[in-house]
Amino acid sequence: MKIYVNRIPAEGLQEHATYDPTEMDMGREDIHLAEPFEVDAFVTKVDEELVVRADIRCPLHMDCARCLEAFTLTVTADAVFSYTVHPTDVVDITDDVRQEIILAYPMIPLCRPDCKGLCSLCGQNLNVSPCRHHTAAERRLDDWSPGGSIAV
Ligand SMILES: [Zn+2]
Ligand SMILES: [Zn+2]
Repeated sequence: MKIYVNRIPAEGLQEHATYDPTEMDMGREDIHLAEPFEVDAFVTKVDEELVVRADIRCPLHMDCARCLEAFTLTVTADAVFSYTVHPTDVVDITDDVRQEIILAYPMIPLCRPDCKGLCSLCGQNLNVSPCRHHTAAERRLDDWSPGGSIAV
């Protein structure tokens, strides 16, 4: 998104941009953009300071850290960028948007918070069904945690 400093009225300016994933290099092998993503921004200028309040919504392809299944998660970020500008400047916020998406990317992507993962012995995806290493009794023990459901 490019912002022309000389076009910002005193009351501020609402801007919107759709980013094409094929033109956005995230610079990280593990971050895969799923589809075009949206940025809404409210831009204000006071003297030489340009302030951009950006609302970023970005669907990303991820592989679950536990069960290795691919899934799509829309990461969101509310960010405030500020720039010192001159009246003739054109400010491109794309680099800052990219940084916000990288910051919002989860350290440990999970397809769902309670993903059961894979059996360490046979590789069975335990979200799909238990394997012979994970009997009903074992699973009850796994559920025995604060906030977990207690099987009878
Ligand atoms: Zn998973
Ligand atoms: Zn197993």
